[in-house]
Amino acid sequence: MISRFKNLSPAFKITSLYLILGLLWILFSDLLLSWMVDDLELMRIMQTLKGWFYVAITTLLFFLLIKRSFDRLDRARESLSEAARHYSYLFRNNPYPMWVYDCDGKRFVEVNEAAEKTFGYSEEEFRKLDLGDLHHPDDLEDLSAMLRCDAPEYNRSSGFRQRKKDGSLIDVELITHLLPGQNGQHYRLVLAMDITGRKQAFEALKASENALKESERQLSTLMSNLPGMAYRCKNDKQWTMLFVSKVCKELTGYPEEAIENNNLISFGEIIHPADRQRIWNEVQEKLFLKKPYPLLYRIITASGQVKWVWEQAVGIFDDEGELMFVEGFITNITEQHNAEKALKDYNELLRSILDNISFPVFYKDLQGRILGCNHDFCDFLGKPYDQIIGHTAWDLVPPAKAILIDKIDRQVLATMSDFRQEEQIVFADGRKKDTVYQKSLFYDTDGIPIGLIGVYFDISERVKAEKIIKKQVEDLERINAELEQFTYTVSHDLRSPLVTIKGSLNLLRDDIKNHDQQQIIDGMARIEAATGRMHHLLEDLLQLSRIGRIGNPFSWFSMNELAEDVKVFLHGILEESKAQLTIGELPGAFGDRFRIMEVLQNLVENAVKFRDPDRVPEIEIGCRQNDGEANYFVKDNGVGIDPRQLDQVFVMFKKLEPESGGTGLGLALVKRIVEFHGGRIWAESEGPGKGCVFCFTLKAGSAPEN
Ligand code: ADP
Repeated sequence: MISRFKNLSPAFKITSLYLILGLLWILFSDLLLSWMVDDLELMRIMQTLKGWFYVAITTLLFFLLIKRSFDRLDRARESLSEAARHYSYLFRNNPYPMWVYDCDGKRFVEVNEAAEKTFGYSEEEFRKLDLGDLHHPDDLEDLSAMLRCDAPEYNRSSGFRQRKKDGSLIDVELITHLLPGQNGQHYRLVLAMDITGRKQAFEALKASENALKESERQLSTLMSNLPGMAYRCKNDKQWTMLFVSKVCKELTGYPEEAIENNNLISFGEIIHPADRQRIWNEVQEKLFLKKPYPLLYRIITASGQVKWVWEQAVGIFDDEGELMFVEGFITNITEQHNAEKALKDYNELLRSILDNISFPVFYKDLQGRILGCNHDFCDFLGKPYDQIIGHTAWDLVPPAKAILIDKIDRQVLATMSDFRQEEQIVFADGRKKDTVYQKSLFYDTDGIPIGLIGVYFDISERVKAEKIIKKQVEDLERINAELEQFTYTVSHDLRSPLVTIKGSLNLLRDDIKNHDQQQIIDGMARIEAATGRMHHLLEDLLQLSRIGRIGNPFSWFSMNELAEDVKVFLHGILEESKAQLTIGELPGAFGDRFRIMEVLQNLVENAVKFRDPDRVPEIEIGCRQNDGEANYFVKDNGVGIDPRQLDQVFVMFKKLEPESGGTGLGLALVKRIVEFHGGRIWAESEGPGKGCVFCFTLKAGSAPEN
């Protein structure tokens, strides 16, 4: 009952309430009056007052009620006009194109400024437009459905294309709201949001998503097809792997999940123990520099096989420069490494073979750049290996020599045949070597020439042997000549005392017969002198023949002491001839001391023997330096020698003064001894009466060659 009352309209409610209250008032006030008042006049007056009171009260009530209604109406009108103002403001100033569309009349009723601006039509023009003028023909069906009177009150849909006045299309999302009009009319408020940019962004996003997916797919394909393992790991001593590509199994023998997060084994444990610390140090150093870096080390696979791997890695840092992780790629290079090692070993072998060759060897490419050489070649050029490799002749030798080398190279290339020539080379330290310089081409496995090999074959021994042979031949020739002379002289010189003896004996026989005492004595003296002379001759010959056969060991000795000994030894003849012998500063010598003493003794004896009778003999034993070579000499102020005959005095049996008592073998003997010591001897004189100097050298510091 109460709920039914509540549903009634307020006007009906108030009227009904007034009627009920009026009836109740009349009924109860009359009953009350009739119960309280008996007087009819008073009753009438009271009735009148009661009526006036009722009218007054109801009038007041009506006044209050009507006033309240009018106040409410005013307020409602005010808020309506305010809402209309707000609506109009929102509609007009909305940044999105909006219009009110008459669903029944199918026309645009009102448009806002944004719509005018966006589509380029004025409001007037809009009103004359059809839906088809503003929309893409393909969208019309859907659009009409959306704008129908019986379509849902609120609708939102995208995918429409609207055409501007200039013909261009924009993508829009439409929001429609039903606006019920008076007289059952239907309007729709339509808001169009330009989503061209959003659509493009969406399409771009989609495209980039697709591209990302595609690149991820490619990356994944690439990673599984790469000849190595891609990884991402932490920079810890375990090299904790956060990710490893599929190749992990093939490379290490462990599946990815065994290594990732050190589940079964850490990558650090897979690295060969001998390489772990080195790799750690290298990586820390490179990470500090924030640059990609290569690594070379060994790993031990699940099956215990040792593999050589090459790694290229880089540290990944965040915006603050903090290292997040390390990424890289590890590939198995065991085969290459072994091949490289074999090649290195081979090169090492080649080099040690070359270094063991005791003559210079080098090889170079066709551009003349030296690819390799041995120690001897380095010594030859006087440069270290590193300064030779990669350089050409132009960098290593003087230009004149480089031109020559180039010429030979071109000749070998042009003729495809070896070049060969005998050459004495001088090492950087001054050593000389006789060589046969040979230059030949070397070829690759296809038989194409790729470089030149140069070898300086050491033929010093051969040259030395040849020199010895040559000298021996010369010596032999000389000895033969001497022998001839010797034979001649011996037969002559030995015959003359024999003839003397024979003649003297015949005379002696007669003298004995005649008992001529004096003649006998003279004859015997002649025979004695002749045999003495033969004895001298034979003694000298014996000595001469001994040179080179019987000798003492070579040693260093003081030449001054030796000269002093000579002076003592010859004291008798020096005293007798009143000769003055002075000894200068003499450098020490190396040789057969006894023989060298014979030399000095002979020279001093000759100086005394061939003295000038008008002068006191002055003899000097001295030494002068000539180009770093010691020239010992014995100088006298004797009879001197004609300069044209200076060489003759060394010839066997040669006496410039036949009358002199000697055998003519003394200086020949001296010459032999000096030459036996590797030295030379010669005589100097300005002529007869000017004295002379006999000079000789000794090969210091070493034994003579033969
Ligand atoms: P000999 O045994 O006859 O001295 P040598 O061979 O010693 O023979 O000397 C050869 C010749 O050289 C001598 O006969 C002499 O004519 C000459 N001769 C050597 N020494 C001197 C000297 N000091 N002064 C001048 N002539 C010399």
